Amino acid sequence: MNPENFADINRRSANAFHEQKRLIKQLLAGKTITCRHCGQALQAQLPSAHSDTTGYIRCAKGCTDIELEASLPGC
Ligand SMILES: [Zn+2]
Repeated sequence: MNPENFADINRRSANAFHEQKRLIKQLLAGKTITCRHCGQALQAQLPSAHSDTTGYIRCAKGCTDIELEASLPGC
């Protein structure tokens, strides 16, 4: 892998991270976000520090299935 590809991957994962944070904020604000693949409403489960619950954002069909870190920086 050449350095250019590597930088591109880093940029893309950073974009995905910001995309996740944006989705979480909108879901927490009570907005309905639909899956970009199937158009179903996404459901959010926030990670809990008190139980070992893993947070996620996913749609009914499962084509969007994002696991959330236990602690979100800046949240
Ligand atoms: Zn979907």
